[in-house]
Amino acid sequence: MIRATSFDGKKVAVFGLGSSGIAAVRSLLAGGADVAAWDDSAAGREAAQKDGVPLIDLSRVDWSQFSSLVLAPGVPLTHPEPHWTVKAARASGVEIIGDIEIFARERMTHAPNAPFIAVTGTNGKSTTTALIAHILRHFGHDVQLGGNIGRAILTLDEPASDRFHVIELSSFQIDLTPTLKPTVGVMLNVTPDHIDRHGTIENYAAVKERVVQGADVAAVGIDDEFALAMLQRRVQAGPAIAFSAKKSIAPGYSLLDDTIICSNREALAVKLASLRGVASLRGRHNAQNALGAIAAVRECFNWLGRSSDADWQAALSSFPGLPHRMEEIGRIGNVLFVNDSKATNADSTEKALLTFPRDVFWIVGGRPKAGGIAPLERYFGGVAKAYLIGESSDDFARTLEGKVAYERSGTLDAAVSAAARDAKSSSGAEPIVLLSPACASYDQFRNFEVRGDHFRRAVEALPGVVMRTAP
Ligand code: ADP
Repeated sequence: MIRATSFDGKKVAVFGLGSSGIAAVRSLLAGGADVAAWDDSAAGREAAQKDGVPLIDLSRVDWSQFSSLVLAPGVPLTHPEPHWTVKAARASGVEIIGDIEIFARERMTHAPNAPFIAVTGTNGKSTTTALIAHILRHFGHDVQLGGNIGRAILTLDEPASDRFHVIELSSFQIDLTPTLKPTVGVMLNVTPDHIDRHGTIENYAAVKERVVQGADVAAVGIDDEFALAMLQRRVQAGPAIAFSAKKSIAPGYSLLDDTIICSNREALAVKLASLRGVASLRGRHNAQNALGAIAAVRECFNWLGRSSDADWQAALSSFPGLPHRMEEIGRIGNVLFVNDSKATNADSTEKALLTFPRDVFWIVGGRPKAGGIAPLERYFGGVAKAYLIGESSDDFARTLEGKVAYERSGTLDAAVSAAARDAKSSSGAEPIVLLSPACASYDQFRNFEVRGDHFRRAVEALPGVVMRTAP
């Protein structure tokens, strides 16, 4: 656990008692703060109290006693409307921060040179963060992985000069971290998302840009106009390196066919690692993630004055990938089963249909998002048959009618056995049974993880299946 020593003797309000909120309370108490914690949900309060969290109804207190409000990232800071605790804190001039800020202050106070890699972007954050952690561990380093992925940051080991903190940051977390100064700040991409919480895409991009602005070295993907503009501003201000999965760039990291290269200003390139055959990083979107991860680790090594001469190929090839994201889970003969349960909208499913352009036996459906699967029409040619599950079945049947063969499977179990049967009798070289629902899971499953695990079990139960083991 990281103790919040910079809050010793201070009174701190904590609102939002999920896992990161409870970790913040523990860290503050251990650091010597006097904590008043609260949550709007009675169930949340009860659970926290059982965990030893000191509850005080923050709607009935004098806010001028507090030095800070530590807010959970899910609580609205600005849009659609500031939460009542935000208004109360502002009215009394109380600073509003999040758990990442507590980490940032502890690092600055006790170990300012401790390596800290922060990753953000609209898409690919978790994959890139996990890959960076994997590469560093592969090279034998002590790595602490957390933030918006896995563990709450304050439950990790404390920063130290020989320990790498690899932290995924959402825009909400960045918004609550005024002194964010990572060693390397990675910006993957910016596309419209969470606009309801940030007002406009410009506000959203401006929040994300703080990862670039505050970093010792910024690593910026330049495949969209917002991120490119960030790089252009940053190069005037401090060390920065670009990466692109779309074009070859110098200086920067890019692709030569399937190989990640790093070019200097004179366009002299070194080959670092090939993506060919790396099953956990299929597709152009994952090439962007791999470029960002290798750029982050190499630039971090360079900044720290360490050698960046290493076997990047072995590090990349041994990445097991993250579950539920185009995850190859098993085979029956030449039929490959792929779990892409994390694809909860058409945008995400598009990545899978781009990656698997033919002979796809597509399990799709659930609680639909606006627009459904109509935006995917241009990929329908690669779909051998669709298996409809969940609430969206009528809607998606209308979209597919006359374009793609489909059946209404209803449940995921029925879809898996029908898709496996059809794929096995297909003449394709490598038929793909793909769960990529383009929908939320809530009509049939608690979340996308439960849906993906269910798919895995259904595949495991098929006769003759050989499940994939990690590389
Ligand atoms: P995040 O943590 O940002 O949600 P993930 O790494 O969990 O990202 O990937 C979630 C989904 O986003 C993937 O299943 C894929 O469909 C899509 N995705 C991943 N990386 C990228 C990328 N670099 N660009 C666009 N889409 C991506």
